[in-house]
Amino acid sequence: MALWVRRFTEGTAADRDLLGGKGANLAEMTRLGLPVPPGFTVTTEACRSFFERGGDVPETLWDEVACAIEAISEATGRQFGDEREPLLVSVRSGARFSMPGMMDTILNLGLTPASVEGFGQVAGERFVLDAFRRLLHMFGHVALGLPDEPFEEIMTHARQSAGVQHDNELNVEQMRAVVDASLAVYPEHGVEFPLDPWEQLRLAVLAVFNSWNTERAVAYREAEGISHDLGTAANVQAMVFGNLGDTSASGVAFTRDPSTGAPGLFGEYLINAQGEDVVAGIRTPFPIEEMAQAPGFEAAYQELLTIAGKLETHYREMQDLEFTVERSKLYMLQTRTGKRTADAAARIAVEMVEQGLIDPKTAVSRVEPDQIERLLHPRIDDRESLEVIARGLPASPGAVTGRLVFTSEDAVYQGRVGVSVILVRPETSADDFPGINAAVGVLTARGGMTSHAAVVARGMGKPAVTGCADLDIDVKAGVLKVNGHELSSHDLITIDGATGRVILGAAQMRPADLNSAEIRSLLSWADDERRLKVRANADTPEDARRARRFGAEGIGLCRTEHMFFATERLPVMRKMILARTEDERAEALERLEAFQVDDFYGIFKAMEGLPVTIRTVDPPLHEFLPTSGTEIKALAAEIGWRSNDLTARVHSMREENPMLGLRGCRVGVIWPEVTRMQARAIFRAAVRCHNEGLKAIPEIMIPLVSTPEELKRQKAVVDAAAEQVFGDAGVRIEYLVGTMIEVPRAALVADEIAEHAAFFSFGTNDLTQTTMALSRDDAGSFLAAYIDRGILPSDPFRTIDQAGVGQLVQIGASRGRMRKPALKLGICGEHGGDPASIEFFHRSGLDYVSCSPFRVPVARLAAAHAALEFEAADR
Ligand code: PEP
Ligand code: MG
Repeated sequence: MALWVRRFTEGTAADRDLLGGKGANLAEMTRLGLPVPPGFTVTTEACRSFFERGGDVPETLWDEVACAIEAISEATGRQFGDEREPLLVSVRSGARFSMPGMMDTILNLGLTPASVEGFGQVAGERFVLDAFRRLLHMFGHVALGLPDEPFEEIMTHARQSAGVQHDNELNVEQMRAVVDASLAVYPEHGVEFPLDPWEQLRLAVLAVFNSWNTERAVAYREAEGISHDLGTAANVQAMVFGNLGDTSASGVAFTRDPSTGAPGLFGEYLINAQGEDVVAGIRTPFPIEEMAQAPGFEAAYQELLTIAGKLETHYREMQDLEFTVERSKLYMLQTRTGKRTADAAARIAVEMVEQGLIDPKTAVSRVEPDQIERLLHPRIDDRESLEVIARGLPASPGAVTGRLVFTSEDAVYQGRVGVSVILVRPETSADDFPGINAAVGVLTARGGMTSHAAVVARGMGKPAVTGCADLDIDVKAGVLKVNGHELSSHDLITIDGATGRVILGAAQMRPADLNSAEIRSLLSWADDERRLKVRANADTPEDARRARRFGAEGIGLCRTEHMFFATERLPVMRKMILARTEDERAEALERLEAFQVDDFYGIFKAMEGLPVTIRTVDPPLHEFLPTSGTEIKALAAEIGWRSNDLTARVHSMREENPMLGLRGCRVGVIWPEVTRMQARAIFRAAVRCHNEGLKAIPEIMIPLVSTPEELKRQKAVVDAAAEQVFGDAGVRIEYLVGTMIEVPRAALVADEIAEHAAFFSFGTNDLTQTTMALSRDDAGSFLAAYIDRGILPSDPFRTIDQAGVGQLVQIGASRGRMRKPALKLGICGEHGGDPASIEFFHRSGLDYVSCSPFRVPVARLAAAHAALEFEAADR
């Protein structure tokens, strides 16, 4: 057997490493007895050897190629270089992974000016001239690096001066002029078109090898994490012609509909055309089903149907096919796994299980976790044309149309009168909570994936686009300028939180499909595989119910501060913060406790029988206070303070670094009565559930702990509240007290902290912020540049930084477990819903992840993928 070359008859689909994806599949189709034009693959090993030798091919390579060409000649009866019936071949690259940016295809290789004349007499002059001008363009461009433009201009000019629309309407003389002009392009660029077909072939193979290292190909591999050492194969195959008249055609087809997943051949074909014409959109192709009745194609169509079925059953996967019909005879040129939409992925995976083609595990592994989320939100119908005016970060998925508003107040007002609004802000703060709540979506100029707007919107399941730097927002004037457009308050826009697109006007939507049978089957199979449990971050009974519908196994983080922003509560919260005496504070706390009992009761009820982790108040308290002069005045009047006194008080509470100030457990340590109030409310709600026969499972979580002493003190407050409430009610309810690990020190002293904790939940948002000294709210301005320049591989607020933050998670987990083996370990930062991070958490031996309700199905699937990959790696 040859060293560097394999004929299609000598390989199988398993030889992808050696033959590349395209070559391996051509070999496999040949082995299956399908009508594949004969050919061979110059292996990836030859390519690697070419690079190792600094650009010299292995010694025997060209001899082996000559032998393989000889074999094609035998099969086709045509000789390479023959002047009357020359063997023509295609040359295509084909790496292990399909890679845009590499050399694609040269067709009709082997033609020379001499054979054009001779062959023209046999096959028809016009046809041969057309084949030659295509070779001149493709060879010049891909093998010799000539620009496309001169060749394209020649064709445009020819069509114009002939007064025709399509290339195939040019007559012989006009085509001959095109060929002559194309030949002349070469010397204009200081090169010659090789008159020797062997020289053409050598240059083409070398061009394939060299295309492995083009800038685009290298950048693509870098982005996709593909090794630079693999090299590419080159496939050489006898030409068949789809442009030999009205019974010839080229086409592409999928074995199932790639956008819906519906069974049945889906594709198109173009009569009297070569393959590239179908893709290039030179003429509009016909739907493939019409081939069944097209004169001269009936039999080829039936054969294509049979082959499509055979290939799909053989590969047990939806296939993307390329074929040519030459004078009514079908030839297969390519088969590969077909790309598909989210809908199609789910449907195909499940239907293939039903058809016995694959098992449930394979079905689970065939659907990308991120694809699932797209099915849970209304989506933009991309079949319609859209005017995209800007792009930001895809902060919270779903698409929505609404009228622009620039202030939270306007959003609330419009919301009340039933207008759908999108809140557009430079960035959002706690003050904007009512506005976000009232709006159907949020768009901000600043802020990353874990900025306030992003976190709040995700929690509510509302679409959000953040960090959209092109927005120039003048809140006062009510004007938004963006990339040459000027929009005013109440103009209509659409945002797409799945892609970050901002679209002018109302885009056409496709409804959400929350409950399709396919998704339910797929997720239940995923549940059979995964080890990580999945909880939700939810702050309201409604979120909790939604999370449960999506399969959440509890709440991993209930952020209680959101509850204090409701219109009727904010004044009471402010009174509590500003209280000048113990009594004033006690009175405000009592009123807040009443609200909180109702909140917790609603959530326990929605999560009946499942654990609910409730975090005591976390943000800096000044976030609850007004900022503008007018607002301060209004509040002063409301609570009976002098305006100057209130201004001074608000200023005194302002912090230079609020993220490192009086926040998290520090609030509860300084004011234990706040923690006591919240704990009492939790236990009273649990008792109310108990009395109604409902099982509440409270887990109280203390945030931002960095010393064991903080947790010890807060736990004492919680336990005392429990004793009091349970004593009064005459019942006892099981509960846990645990903490968030979101400060590096806490991870390092996790063993000591574990003494006082029944669980750890890693708050990876703050842990990322505190470990990397990256502000969650400000990093948006430079993170993208860091990622673009390769300083960071991805947004660390979305995908866990394994080397730094992830290591702290592992350290915290193992030190905690060392001291307390039964310690429960979870994740409640945004990473809990990110597939790549979930894989890491699975490997790190955590018990659960928690994420926004809409990410729950994603996390279920991602956790299953992690388990399956782990299992496969173990074998
Ligand atoms: C965290 O820090 O990871 C977390 C979940 O808490 P928050 O986002 O509310 O700070
Ligand atoms: Mg936090």
